[in-house]
Amino acid sequence: MLFLSFDKPTAKMTIMTRKNIVFHSLIIACLFTGISCENKSSLTESSATPADTLSFVTTEAPRHFFNKPEEYLDWQAKQILSLTGSAMLKYPPRIDEPLERQMAMLMLDAVFHDEKAPHRESVQDFHHRRTLFALEQIKNGEVKSGVKIWKLYNMGVIARTQTVTVAFDITRGYSSKSDSFALSNEIMEKIINHCDVLFISHRHRDHADEEVAKMFIEQGKPVVAPPDIWEDKDIYSAITHLDRKAHEIQSLPLNNIDLNLEVVIYPGHQGTDIPNNVVLVITPEKYSICHTGDQSSDDDWNWIDEVKNHFKVDILLPNCWTTNPLRTSKGYNPQLIIPVHENELGHTIDHREAYALNYSRWNVPYDKIIMSWGESFHYNP
Ligand SMILES: [Zn+2]
Ligand SMILES: [Zn+2]
Repeated sequence: MLFLSFDKPTAKMTIMTRKNIVFHSLIIACLFTGISCENKSSLTESSATPADTLSFVTTEAPRHFFNKPEEYLDWQAKQILSLTGSAMLKYPPRIDEPLERQMAMLMLDAVFHDEKAPHRESVQDFHHRRTLFALEQIKNGEVKSGVKIWKLYNMGVIARTQTVTVAFDITRGYSSKSDSFALSNEIMEKIINHCDVLFISHRHRDHADEEVAKMFIEQGKPVVAPPDIWEDKDIYSAITHLDRKAHEIQSLPLNNIDLNLEVVIYPGHQGTDIPNNVVLVITPEKYSICHTGDQSSDDDWNWIDEVKNHFKVDILLPNCWTTNPLRTSKGYNPQLIIPVHENELGHTIDHREAYALNYSRWNVPYDKIIMSWGESFHYNP
């Protein structure tokens, strides 16, 4: 994999030097990836390079954008995402965030809270490149200790230990209502090649993607979902429906790696009536990871309040907008919280759920990590 890395620009670094770096990066990237620099919609796995390359604001721009406000906004989104991607590389997810990291997250919020965001080429490109960046690590990333977490679009998460790789709610991104934003089947299949099981929390399109489920099943890997997803479809009989029972460990055979995974399927709900599996996975190394889906029912506190009395939860992955983050945190009493479900671009901007809102909502007495698409964090206590 091509990896170009440059130090932070110093006062001595001239504009010409930066220009040269950007220009040369572009030329080298094009040479190595074999794609046209103009044709970004044909992104392939081999063109993942720019997501791990630092870049700066381009010195190439039209002299003005008179009478072209949309073109200007496209150009601006592209520059912000390019620079923010570089900041994310230099300042990866961590508990004590430097100013640059928080600024990067807020810049993403600003771009993603544009009504047209999923239809802007730069946002689509950012999603594709960030996912390819993660795929490169998922392909090659052996985890010798602890748990490595990759965050993908919306509530899509991949968690890996030494023995198992678990996927939660991964989708191609068609819920954004922009086909060009979604990942190709080819890229999704490459991700699935390195996963052992898929848990789907509930039936909504930003969590459940039938094509993704099919790919898992075709590879002989289980897909665990609540009982009401795709009831009238052929795929239904191939889905694993575990009992929705609080605090009860069930054993899920993963035939592709010859392992029985310990799982608790908590009987959660979105609102009052949509079944939502809250999944607690206990890996063979005894790390536990809990993904809450769109949990948001006040009738479920009776078991949420008690989780801590039954299990030690290492990593909690809650929907960032859930009804009571403090009570949720106290119920699971996790070692680490990684909020998910920010910036689902299919929602209107009032419900896209900014990264910035995590700082107030999840201002709870627990460690937390805020992450964006394609980023990873190694939990290694
Ligand atoms: Zn939902
Ligand atoms: Zn959702």
